[in-house]
Amino acid sequence: MSESVYCPNCNSLQESGAMFCPQCGTNLSATTEQPAPVADQNNSAANPSQGKAIASLVLGIVAVICIFLGYGALLGIVLAIVGIVLGTSAKKEAPSSMATAGVVLSIIALALCIISFLACVACVGLLFSVESLYY
Ligand SMILES: [Zn+2]
Repeated sequence: MSESVYCPNCNSLQESGAMFCPQCGTNLSATTEQPAPVADQNNSAANPSQGKAIASLVLGIVAVICIFLGYGALLGIVLAIVGIVLGTSAKKEAPSSMATAGVVLSIIALALCIISFLACVACVGLLFSVESLYY
């Protein structure tokens, strides 16, 4: 007694050894052998760190813009620090050029924001001291 299988397409009874259904030509061996989802695991592991790398890059860019906002540079400092933390974390999980760019950009933005903020504070401080001389 030989084992039999049903064709998934036309539902006719076939011998298990048959590669193709003689009725409709459906590949019977392909329906039993399912390809293992290997690529899925790599993607799900890379995605969170890639998201962090992108966030780090975006935070770095926004922080650079904040340099020109005077006291907004304070916000830029906070964003740049978050960008550095996210970028370094992304680099540890999955080293990528995007994560590196995010860290570097955030560090540059942080330095420029601190300079800009201090310059602004000094400027306003100078203004107040000048005003206090007159009054
Ligand atoms: Zn068939």
